[in-house]
Amino acid sequence: MNLLQIEPTYDVEAIRADFPILQRRVKGYPLVYLDNAATSQKPQQVIETLVHYYENTNANVHRGLHTLAEEATEAYETARAKVARFIGAEPESLVFTRNTTEAINLVAYAWGLANLKAGDVIVLSEMEHHSNIVPWQLVARITGARLHYVPFTPEGELDMEAFEEALRQEPKLVAITHASNVLGTINPVEQITSKAHAVGAKVLIDGAQAVPHRPVNVAQIGCDFYAFSGHKMLAPTGIGALYARRELLEEMPPFMGGGEMIRRVTHEYSTWADIPIKFEAGTPNIADGIAFGTAVDYLQQVGMESILQHDQQLVAETLRLLEAEEDIVIYGPRDPASRCGLVSFNFKHVHPHDVAQILDAHGIAIRSGHHCCQLIMRRLDVTATARVSFYLYNTIEEVHAFWKALDDVRKVFGKYGGR
Ligand code: PMP
Repeated sequence: MNLLQIEPTYDVEAIRADFPILQRRVKGYPLVYLDNAATSQKPQQVIETLVHYYENTNANVHRGLHTLAEEATEAYETARAKVARFIGAEPESLVFTRNTTEAINLVAYAWGLANLKAGDVIVLSEMEHHSNIVPWQLVARITGARLHYVPFTPEGELDMEAFEEALRQEPKLVAITHASNVLGTINPVEQITSKAHAVGAKVLIDGAQAVPHRPVNVAQIGCDFYAFSGHKMLAPTGIGALYARRELLEEMPPFMGGGEMIRRVTHEYSTWADIPIKFEAGTPNIADGIAFGTAVDYLQQVGMESILQHDQQLVAETLRLLEAEEDIVIYGPRDPASRCGLVSFNFKHVHPHDVAQILDAHGIAIRSGHHCCQLIMRRLDVTATARVSFYLYNTIEEVHAFWKALDDVRKVFGKYGGR
């Protein structure tokens, strides 16, 4: 098989120099990190933001009148504005959360408990991550609402006919992923939103795999809620965000109660702070929030269109190489242009955990398992898949190193169909 070379859309080596962990060796080999859908690596600039904050500014936000408290508040709120602008939103509409999971739970409990009643329908898809299934199951159990799942086609696309059929039940909410972390599918979220709005449903989009990898504009999508995680887009763990339309945040009751989120507290009742602080009870994750702003600056400097193109080049080469292998099955759409930057696959005769372990012996980090998507596994009739997932610092040479290392799997387990 000939190996394609590509003209990168930016200077990948210069980017790699910003990521200290990429200098690491694993099992004697240079680290090839292809598990970006789980979490991304962090550039020096993000790490330095954390160190600088703790060395120079550390104080609690929104309360103190001293210099450090003012500086910390200013930095935290500046970061909020940057993250909001990054997805085309106003800062008041952006609530900092721990991650996508917490953002979806916030909507499920604060909006869901106030708006759902017995018999109401919530439309989900069978390609959702557990974090966009389990919160709805919990809230459905309390409210008596009913879950309806839209399947995906054998090609791994959302079944739009089945979606339209589901809308005939006039659901109260449609909660669907922007990009699948297993199939790589990019869902037509604008179309989904306008069709759902036409029957009066609110729309939540899980953007965990989309915001890190492509330009996203929530105003253009028109959705009501949009959830994403910082740690998959160069920011530290423990910080994520929920975008929600302003009117919804105004009318929703709080998710959690405590300090920060109140205006006035009496013996009997309390009133709430303005949005978005109404949804940020207790001391927030200040340092990681500020570093989220640095991460967004970094991505913007490279350019989201360029990152998207880079991901697609790596996916195209991966698909081309794997498609030529008779012992490998690929999951999800075949056109790199309709995918996010990952490819799930299986050897026909080797468990993906074994594949991941053999690649690790070459310093190559890939993921294997159900990827928190057991409904997808059930549809694919597998218990697990292997997955490679790329980001802005991965190179075509790393794709080739991964592909060559697959031969070691064949050395250990024998060839498919062989004896
Ligand atoms: N949704 C999707 C599509 C994801 O890929 C993930 C992370 N694997 C999540 C939600 C959950 O993200 P987090 O664990 O950061 O809350």
